[in-house]
Amino acid sequence: MAIRQIRLFDDEILRKRSKTVDVVDDRIRQILDDMADTMYDTENAGGLAAPQIGILKRLVVIDMGQGLIKLVNPEIISMEGSQDVIEGCLSIPNTFGKLKRPAKVKIHALNENGEKIMLTGKGDLAKCFCHEIDHLEGILFTDLATEYIK
Ligand code: ZN
Repeated sequence: MAIRQIRLFDDEILRKRSKTVDVVDDRIRQILDDMADTMYDTENAGGLAAPQIGILKRLVVIDMGQGLIKLVNPEIISMEGSQDVIEGCLSIPNTFGKLKRPAKVKIHALNENGEKIMLTGKGDLAKCFCHEIDHLEGILFTDLATEYIK
């Protein structure tokens, strides 16, 4: 178990585009495990993207209460509808904003064994897929927020 340090909003690594993972090997699985440990070590995180621990690889972990999801090279393949959401981010402590996200998102990715998977997220899970995949492009929710909540 390894808890990694979470990079904060003023760290320029959060603004860089992450690289595609070519081979899902033990090293990648170790990073995913460390990401999960780091996420679970926080108060109420639902997801973490690799750049948040300083690694520019397309890796995401999510747990919105339905169990741990590990994603390699996740990609949104379709979106439906729209929802008003409130988001926060481990890299931007104590800040919450309102924004719009699709109501339903379909993604494909590789799992930790390098197998292709397809997942559909609605509601909070759709929001989370979008938020974490945005991190891989160097986008933070504050770029999209229309209003902040104190
Ligand atoms: Zn975030």
